[in-house]
Amino acid sequence: MNKVGIIGGGAAGLMAAAHCKGDVTVLEKNEKLGKKIYITGKGRCNVTNNCALYEFFPNIVNGEKFMMSSLSAFPPPALMELLGANGVRTKTERGNRVFPSTDKSSDVISALVNAVRKNGAKVLLETEVNSVEKRNEEFVVNTNNGEFTFDKLIVATGGVSYKATGSTGDGYKIAQAFGHKVVSPVPALSAIELIGDVKPLEGLSLKNVSASVKIGNKTFSRFGEMLFTDKGVSGPIILTLSSYINRFNLNGEKLCIDFKPALSPETLDARLSGDFVEFRNKDLANILCGLLPKAIIPYVLNQSGISGSIKGHSITREQRYALGYSVKNLMFRIKKLADVNLAIITSGGVELKEINPKTMESKLVNGLYFAGETINVDALTGGFNLQCAFAMGRAAGLAAGEYQ
Ligand SMILES: Cc1cc2nc3c(=O)[nH]c(=O)nc-3n(C[C@H](O)[C@H](O)[C@H](O)COP(=O)(O)OP(=O)(O)OC[C@H]3O[C@@H](n4cnc5c(N)ncnc54)[C@H](O)[C@@H]3O)c2cc1C
Repeated sequence: MNKVGIIGGGAAGLMAAAHCKGDVTVLEKNEKLGKKIYITGKGRCNVTNNCALYEFFPNIVNGEKFMMSSLSAFPPPALMELLGANGVRTKTERGNRVFPSTDKSSDVISALVNAVRKNGAKVLLETEVNSVEKRNEEFVVNTNNGEFTFDKLIVATGGVSYKATGSTGDGYKIAQAFGHKVVSPVPALSAIELIGDVKPLEGLSLKNVSASVKIGNKTFSRFGEMLFTDKGVSGPIILTLSSYINRFNLNGEKLCIDFKPALSPETLDARLSGDFVEFRNKDLANILCGLLPKAIIPYVLNQSGISGSIKGHSITREQRYALGYSVKNLMFRIKKLADVNLAIITSGGVELKEINPKTMESKLVNGLYFAGETINVDALTGGFNLQCAFAMGRAAGLAAGEYQ
């Protein structure tokens, strides 16, 4: 019987084990399976995104074309059906985000483990793979629990984010040992650290703002929600931006926030003008409270070069223009993205050109497969990353299975 080894019992590895036919063994270094799945979606697990595939693909930042085959064969409804068949009903929330109806990520893990058991695959916990080599058409896998040999091997070891969950980049070393190129891992869906003191803004949450980063002649821009942290910025639009700018040298680049993206500069100027007439005897800092969150006002005044104690009636047209400009273009300098260990996912990994997108088999080594975050695929938030990992895992599992 075809002996298949699967390194990694995360999203991709478990899905591979649920589909692979033969004598299948999952080698997982942790004491339990799916440790990262457990912390996804703040413990609720945003397991997929129930949108049409043509809407799904643009959410893949790297590997959109590569993912077409495996995702078309295993789209979100198929995943929801599999979870249902293994005891977990799902619900769809805002933005087509799908969660288990119990809001418990542990239920998703249980469903996957159930599917693995039904398929008859074995699981070896606390079994860490140290190295792999190919001898006489067999994969010889060295672990802390001894040596194993397999006819086929699926590497599903994840990236290098949240290392405490077990993803420590081991798959990259295995791939490199077999001659594969690995695109250097960088943070994706990451917070952005800023230069200068933003501590007074910590906890400030903004809605309906636009954040943009201009690098060379390219501008990356997103509209929606964001928040300030002790060191910089985070939140949905910042995480998304980070995934598009993570390959640039960001030190010193400008992050620009538009607090009133719905207002044209002329409309905003008319609004300011009206406010300064209406509240002519009030201090500027107080007048701006009607327009902006209080904590941000000193930053807007500082950039505009205007004192907050000036009265509404004495503000000049030039000062008003400067204020309007800062409200729509408040600048911060970027230091860097947060450490990759704190990023939601890792961008980079095994080079896609060297993997068959339909079967996930290496184009360099027969019988070697890769799946999940360990390869150079990353997507935006919303359940897209897990769905990609599941689709790749299934494709690899089916292909490595004995009926192939
Ligand atoms: C905080 C957080 C929240 C997230 N929320 C979401 C969300 O809501 N929705 C979403 O779609 N995505 C989310 N993600 C991303 C998602 O979790 C990953 O994309 C997904 O888990 C990748 O699956 P994987 O199987 O490739 O890797 P992993 O889930 O990282 O699994 C890899 C497994 O391999 C094991 N392993 C590694 N090396 C070895 C070795 N040498 N020997 C044996 N075993 C090994 C690891 O222990 C681990 O269990 C989130 C990520 C984080 C960090």
